[in-house]
Amino acid sequence: MNYYNLQDKNHRVDFGTAVVQGLAPNNGLYMPSEIPVLDIWHDLPNLSPVEIGTAMLRPFVTPSLDEATLKRVVSETLSFDIPVVQVAENRHCLELFHGPTQAFKDVGARFMSRCLAAFRHDKSQPVTVLTATSGDTGSAVANGFYQVDGVQVKILFPKGGVSAYQEHQMTSLGGNIQAFEVDGTFDDCQALVKSALSDEALRADVALSSANSINVARLLPQMIYYALGLRQLMQQGLTNHDVNKVVFSVPSGNFGNLTAGVLAYKMGLPVKRFIAACNENDAVCRYLQTGEYAAKASVATVANAMDVGNPSNFVRLSRLCADDVVKLRQVLLAVRYDDDAIIETMQATYEKTGYVLDPHGATGYQSLLDGLHEDEIGVFLGTAAPIKFLDVVQRAIPDYQGIEVDLSSCHKTQLTNDYQTFKKCLL
Ligand SMILES: *Cc1c(COP(=O)(O)O)cnc(C)c1O
Repeated sequence: MNYYNLQDKNHRVDFGTAVVQGLAPNNGLYMPSEIPVLDIWHDLPNLSPVEIGTAMLRPFVTPSLDEATLKRVVSETLSFDIPVVQVAENRHCLELFHGPTQAFKDVGARFMSRCLAAFRHDKSQPVTVLTATSGDTGSAVANGFYQVDGVQVKILFPKGGVSAYQEHQMTSLGGNIQAFEVDGTFDDCQALVKSALSDEALRADVALSSANSINVARLLPQMIYYALGLRQLMQQGLTNHDVNKVVFSVPSGNFGNLTAGVLAYKMGLPVKRFIAACNENDAVCRYLQTGEYAAKASVATVANAMDVGNPSNFVRLSRLCADDVVKLRQVLLAVRYDDDAIIETMQATYEKTGYVLDPHGATGYQSLLDGLHEDEIGVFLGTAAPIKFLDVVQRAIPDYQGIEVDLSSCHKTQLTNDYQTFKKCLL
C-alpha cells in the first residue's frame, strides 16, 4: 500500500516512511491510496481479535511489515479486553478503556511504538518522539513506548490542564520517558513540538518523530475495534441480517477515531451509519449543516480531550467521502452538547441504570438517546474510564469514589513556552 500526501497527490511513500515521518511535507497528512474491501465480516464471530486485526491491517502495512511482525504487533496491541456492555435497551457501550492507561489511545500508541521500533533503520542513533498532550495521548504514549529500545519520548503537557491521575501516568515511569510541564496551554505545548519538528538544524543532530494522532500508525489500528464490537454483538445473538442496523456513536475531538470507523465501513464493515458526538467545539457539526468548513479557536469544556477547534483528521474524513458534503451526510450525523447537558447525562444515567459515564462517553450515549431510530441498534464508544476525570464525574455523581494519586515520587521537568530552552533539552 502507498500513502499519498493530501497536499500533493504525486508525493507517495510506503507505510514505513509514513510512520517514521508522521507528517507529510507542507504539513500534509498521509492518506492510504486505496481502500481494500474485505469479505470477512459475516465470519466475525468465528475469528479471533488478532485474526481480525491482522486481516484488516495487512493490506495497509504490506510490504513494510512482514506477516510475522504484523501478527506479533497486533497481538501485543490487543492485549486487553474490549467488551460491549449494555447500558439500556438497544444501547451499548464499546468499552475501550481497559488498556494500561484506561483510554482508547492505548490501541494506537501501542501499535505505533512497535511499528516505529521495527522501522528504525539506523539502529545506532536513538529516535526522539515528541508528543504534546491534553492528557490521554501523553499517558498512552508514555506507556506504549516505555522501554522500547532506541526510542526516547518527550511529553509536553499544560500546567494545570491535566488530571492528577493523568499526570501520574505520564510522570511515574521514568526511564526513556521524560515529561515536561509547560507553563502555558495545550496550544503552547503543540507550538513547541511543531517548532522542534520544523527546525532543520536541530533535526540534523537529533532524529525526531512525533506520536500525535495524525500518524497513520495511530489511526489505522483504531479500525479494528469497530469490527470487535460487531463481533461481540453477533456472538450475543445479532443476526447477519440485523448487523446493518448498527449505528456507532463516536465522541470526537480530532476525529481520528471516527475516521478509522468510516475507513472500516469503506472496507465493507456492514454497519448502518455513524454519529459524531461533540462538545461545544462543533466545526464538523457546522460543516454538515452548512457545507462550509470553518475552524474556530477551541473552547474549554468538561470533555477536554475533545476540545479541538480545527480537527486534524477532518481532511481525511472528507476525502473518504470524495470531499462531498452530501456523501458525508449519508454516513454521518454530528451533534453537539454543552457542559450542562453532559453533566446531566452522567447524572441521569447513573440514577437510572447505575452506569458511570465519563464526560466524553456521555456525549456518545446522549446522542443515542436523542438520535437513534426505532429499528436501530446503537453502540457508543467508551473512550476513557471515568476515574481519569474524577473532578467532572464527582460533579455529576457526588458519591463516586476516586483513587488517591501519589505524585511524590513522580518526575517532571518544568518548562516555559520558550522554544530555545526546550531545544536545549533535546540536544
Ligand atoms: C482523544 C479522546 C477523544 C477524541 O478522539 P479523537 O480521535 O481525537 O476524535 C475522545 N475521548 C477521549 C477520552 C479521548 O482521550
